[in-house]
Amino acid sequence: MKKCSSCSNQAIYFRINEGRYYCKRCFSKNIENRVKTTIRRFKMIEDGDKIAVGLSGGKDSSNTLYILKKIFEKNPKIEIVAITIDEGIKGYRDKTLKGCIDFCKHLGVEHHIVSFQQSLHTTIDKIAKELKEGSMCGPCGIFRRYLLNQKARELNANKIAVGHNLDDEAQSILMNVMKGDLLRLARFGGVPKVVDHKKFIPRIKPLLMIPEKESALYAMINGIPAYFDECPYANFNALRMETRDFLNKLEDRSPGIKYSIVKSGEKIASSIKHDFAGKEINVCERCEEPSSEKICRTCKTIEKYVYNSSYKSFKSRDKS
Ligand SMILES: [Zn+2]
Ligand SMILES: [Zn+2]
Repeated sequence: MKKCSSCSNQAIYFRINEGRYYCKRCFSKNIENRVKTTIRRFKMIEDGDKIAVGLSGGKDSSNTLYILKKIFEKNPKIEIVAITIDEGIKGYRDKTLKGCIDFCKHLGVEHHIVSFQQSLHTTIDKIAKELKEGSMCGPCGIFRRYLLNQKARELNANKIAVGHNLDDEAQSILMNVMKGDLLRLARFGGVPKVVDHKKFIPRIKPLLMIPEKESALYAMINGIPAYFDECPYANFNALRMETRDFLNKLEDRSPGIKYSIVKSGEKIASSIKHDFAGKEINVCERCEEPSSEKICRTCKTIEKYVYNSSYKSFKSRDKS
């Protein structure tokens, strides 16, 4: 039986790129400290901030909420709330939604739910039924980001925390390099200051330096509810899946390579950021949400997918 490299309790994890063993307690402490370091390094959170955590019910977003709550519990100058988006997916979201409600109650975190039905007058189930084929992930992601931003602003939050982990970020960086998407590369991880608009709430990724499997282990050790059920409409982006497999293979052969990719992404971002600074962001003509084009992606998507579009009631819910 292996012993923890710090305290000689029974080890449950070996971090290969460090050559160190961890017991449950030292592992959890280490993850929390790394999140703290990431927050400090990228100046993600400052006194006076109100953070809205996008809580989906998966391990990463639940960990984000749990760890932020733990780190800032004793700081009265930082407020943390949670927002869950209900896409209207029967047999999937209704289950996870209940889990999110219970988890927030348990943590004593104010929880808000925004539904596609109420805000956009449609659901993913309805769109899927009408379309019969094609991936739902595109429109679903666009709507979720839109509503999360809108709700966070309504709650006067000045930052949105999302659960992206090291693997997600390394995949995105490689994919953006492959696609030559420099704007996305410039928006790297920490606090993306490239898009600057008073209606646009910046996103932070506190788990940026936590590998996927360590996030899963942290959730397990700390009894954090995490739903592994797959969305019934999950249609995996082929390029992302292949990039993920490729990165996992590389990581097996050269432990630590995901960190190096994320660090490279950070360097690239800081050297090309100025090329995109000052890029005009306007508001959408229809809904008045921030958009780089005349009509935002959400309005375009609504038009495309919801044939009997009910723009009038959807239009500018909050004119701030
Ligand atoms: Zn230990
Ligand atoms: Zn719009």
